[in-house]
Amino acid sequence: MAMVITNHISLYFNDGNIILLAPQSPNHYIAFRVHRSILSKISTVFENLFSTPRVDEMETYEGIPLMYMVDGSDALQSLLHLVYHDVHLPLAQLDPCTLCSLQNILGLTEKYAIPCIGRKIVTQIEKGWPRTLRQWDELESRNYAVIELANGALDSQPDLEPPYPDELFPEPASAIRLARERNIPTILPAAFYHLSRLSIENDWGRADMQSEGVKNGCAAEWSLLTADDLRCLLTGQAKLSRAPREILNFRHDGEECPEVCFAEKRRELLMEIQETCIKSQDVLRVTRHYIEKKSYKDGICHLCTSRIRHDLATFRCMLWTLLPDFFSCQ
Ligand SMILES: [Zn+2]
Repeated sequence: MAMVITNHISLYFNDGNIILLAPQSPNHYIAFRVHRSILSKISTVFENLFSTPRVDEMETYEGIPLMYMVDGSDALQSLLHLVYHDVHLPLAQLDPCTLCSLQNILGLTEKYAIPCIGRKIVTQIEKGWPRTLRQWDELESRNYAVIELANGALDSQPDLEPPYPDELFPEPASAIRLARERNIPTILPAAFYHLSRLSIENDWGRADMQSEGVKNGCAAEWSLLTADDLRCLLTGQAKLSRAPREILNFRHDGEECPEVCFAEKRRELLMEIQETCIKSQDVLRVTRHYIEKKSYKDGICHLCTSRIRHDLATFRCMLWTLLPDFFSCQ
């Protein structure tokens, strides 16, 4: 079968002095007409590639020296887009496909020794996964505000297309896979925590997940998780569910209240908080809910209220710092 060559729509520069020919399918190649000087400047591997054959000995295409690439045209296109157009990578809304293509580009940045672009990609990926509890809370607030707004709009206009939760939260299983394969451990704690609150039934691949819309929570591409990472997830979940019993400490529990609290009421409240935390799949969210609650039950004084909030905040901070240990991702 004859080989078909298509010139790339935007990465075919009239003044380019090298053609990179990359396969799209076995008989179909994409031609990128680019500049040796630009690629040599950012990559010693390209520099060496271009200097090996003498230009006058090279095969040509439309009069320009030609090099056959083994990399697929999609990955090469993404890499060259970053070199030439400095395109913005998708940010937080990383779905498995985006992450898969980012992984391919990262592979190329390693292969061609282009660390500046590799770092840029890693930074973008990291932005989707908070490193601090404060960043986590900010992201959560933003996401839940969007969901609430969307649900409100849906109630008044049922025909409206809902934003899917996966447009709000990055898909965690592919992120974990990427982090393991490309050594980006910084995103693992948040990605594992996010995954730990999702149901196994919320499967990315299931078509009906999409139609159930925002109220259903988000989905994960469970099939991407390796056996080792599934073990990390289950261990982390077990440790998280033990944490309210083992780490959550109400310092003034049992003390006489210096103000006007009813000891019984306060005891009931502390039990309720602990029980809710134990039952919850998302203990960071539940504890935050209690911290932000305007007031507790009648009969709980201001002093006790602020002490409980303080203890919950301490618990959340401890929990956050323990996540890498819980999910064995240090
Ligand atoms: Zn009190």
